[in-house]
Amino acid sequence: DKKRVLNFSPGPAKIPEEVLLQAQKELLNYRGQGLGVMEMSHRSKEFEEIIAGAEKSVRDLLHVPDNYKVLFLQGGGAGQFASVPLNLMQSGSADYLVSGSWSAAAAKEAEKYGNVSLVVPKPSKFVTIPDQSTWKLNDKADYFYYCGNETVHGVEFQGVPDIPSHIPIVADISSSLMSQNVDVGKYGLLFGGAQKNIGPAGVTLVVVRDDLLGHARKECPSVWDYKVQSANTSLYNTPPCFNVYITALILQWIQKNGGLDAMEALSRQKSGLIYDVIDKSNGFYSSPVDRKYRSRMNIPFRIGTGEEQDQLETEFLAEAKKHRMLQLKGHRSVGGMRASLYNAVTVAETQLLADLMKEFQDRKT
Ligand code: PMP
Repeated sequence: DKKRVLNFSPGPAKIPEEVLLQAQKELLNYRGQGLGVMEMSHRSKEFEEIIAGAEKSVRDLLHVPDNYKVLFLQGGGAGQFASVPLNLMQSGSADYLVSGSWSAAAAKEAEKYGNVSLVVPKPSKFVTIPDQSTWKLNDKADYFYYCGNETVHGVEFQGVPDIPSHIPIVADISSSLMSQNVDVGKYGLLFGGAQKNIGPAGVTLVVVRDDLLGHARKECPSVWDYKVQSANTSLYNTPPCFNVYITALILQWIQKNGGLDAMEALSRQKSGLIYDVIDKSNGFYSSPVDRKYRSRMNIPFRIGTGEEQDQLETEFLAEAKKHRMLQLKGHRSVGGMRASLYNAVTVAETQLLADLMKEFQDRKT
């Protein structure tokens, strides 16, 4: 059976089929060059056009102001957990909002480099975001850090945090990247790994305001020094060329499919289909997350309650697999189910999952 599955993975995630087909077509011979992108010099005219095209797409999609740099780096989201303090922690302190496991990991990494204060105490469960009026901000922080969408816990921040303008806001938007419009000008730095919404693992997009460049601590590795990479248009060292190429194709695919307005509308429609089943299930399905902060991208949910829960969830996963729906198991730290609905997942695929959920409930209740 050569049919593709319905891939609800939290990442690496589904890549649009037409992008894969184009990459397949160009794999051995990129546009008549007689070699593929994997085999090509990163200093070649062809690759320089690919990375410049990717940058242009990012600038167009996100309406990036001219005083921001767009970088394609390596080391993933976790690399940025270190890179952010290494570049921005000039006086040695930063504020972190911890709203899930990824911002918690970022705060822990930053502690290696300076004083990290949590603006709200770490809760025992990540299911909401405390109101901003309760945050304790440090007026002298080098930056304020938060995660736009917590991939494991399905908690999505709404809007832009209201932080005094002299403090740059840094956001990890790995799992919501290019799924909605972002007011880039309100941020000091935005970053995200590509492997959810815009590409294969191995490329990390960084958008950074230019006045934040050039203050890196001396122990900052050159490959992660934003100023060094910016001066070299992300080609200080050999980039993951093939992954940048696939990312460039996916960014074009997003542009062709209506840009971020369309991606945002689709994400609301898709997540709405699943939340609707959960909300109308009389408690058969449950979402632990405060409605106000429900993620459009990652939907964690439980099936049944008490002793039945394990059995029902195991059965549901097996049934989903029969229908070629994969990667629905929740993160090991929270258990249960999680449906991830990134850009490449279609409304039709999401509807099939919603239908299966309804049908499963009907049979079990
Ligand atoms: N931040 C978020 C929100 C994530 O979802 C992930 C990975 N799933 C990371 C950071 C870490 O990214 P990476 O694995 O690319 O280092």
